[in-house]
Amino acid sequence: MKIAVFNDYRVGLVEGDSIYDVTSAIPGAAPAWPAIFMTRAIADWQSLRPRVLEARSSAAPVPLSSVRLLPPNPCPIQVVAAPANYRKHIAEMGAMAVTKKGRSAREQGFFMKSTASLTGPARGIELPRSATRRFDHESELAVIIGKTCRNVPREQALDAVFGYSCLIDVTMRIEKDVAEEERVMRKSFETFTPLGPWITTADEIADPQQLSNQLFVNGELRQDANTRDMIVGVAELIELVSSVMTLYPGDVIATGTPEGIGPIRPGDKVSIRIDQVGQMEVDVREAAAGTPFGFELAAR
Ligand code: MN
Repeated sequence: MKIAVFNDYRVGLVEGDSIYDVTSAIPGAAPAWPAIFMTRAIADWQSLRPRVLEARSSAAPVPLSSVRLLPPNPCPIQVVAAPANYRKHIAEMGAMAVTKKGRSAREQGFFMKSTASLTGPARGIELPRSATRRFDHESELAVIIGKTCRNVPREQALDAVFGYSCLIDVTMRIEKDVAEEERVMRKSFETFTPLGPWITTADEIADPQQLSNQLFVNGELRQDANTRDMIVGVAELIELVSSVMTLYPGDVIATGTPEGIGPIRPGDKVSIRIDQVGQMEVDVREAAAGTPFGFELAAR
């Protein structure tokens, strides 16, 4: 099942090039703030499922291209992220000398992205106006948690997964000769976490560690990896995060990027494609607002 949120916070099931509106089966789906209805719906999915399928059977197909896709969980409680997490990428970052010696989540743990940085295909990515720093794409498999869980052993961790989605972890890079800003801030600008285009439920993914993960910029392949090359897999990440804090239904875990990160600029079209999960295209624009902090390149 592919579950999308679209237009004015409506909920739909995606089949091929069509979307079927099942909003009537989702309690609280409405444009009111905060849009926590998907967090609740994911928590209650087993009991909602028959009603969702009933709504699907009486819905008319609408062309997917005619709707505005929002993040498939617009308001999760937490967005957790792993650092660089594929074997080759660690080497690349080490060579660029911009990570702390290329350590994985197993050594340095995880970080948070602002929930308010989520965006979907309808809005896309907005880079802060007038900033001259480098902003990069990171192509990541997103895990959507399905159950409240704490201290989950990795052997049981995949039972806590509701589904998977595509996530671009947009990042303001550290520059040499510029003080190293907090990672949370560099990754939490508004719209710096495109998520979507839908959630593919876990029953459709035979093995999350056997998925190709690709990202294109203006049609050019920039990242091309497979989740089998993850250093810390999905189950171990859930074990790690849940050993520190409670994970809640609807929470998002960005599982870390492979090699091939690179800059994005206003006017670019970024497309992420994860095998069996989906493909999401987002436009890059300049934000209406600049930032008083400048985020300028050092003089060279
Ligand atoms: Mn990342």
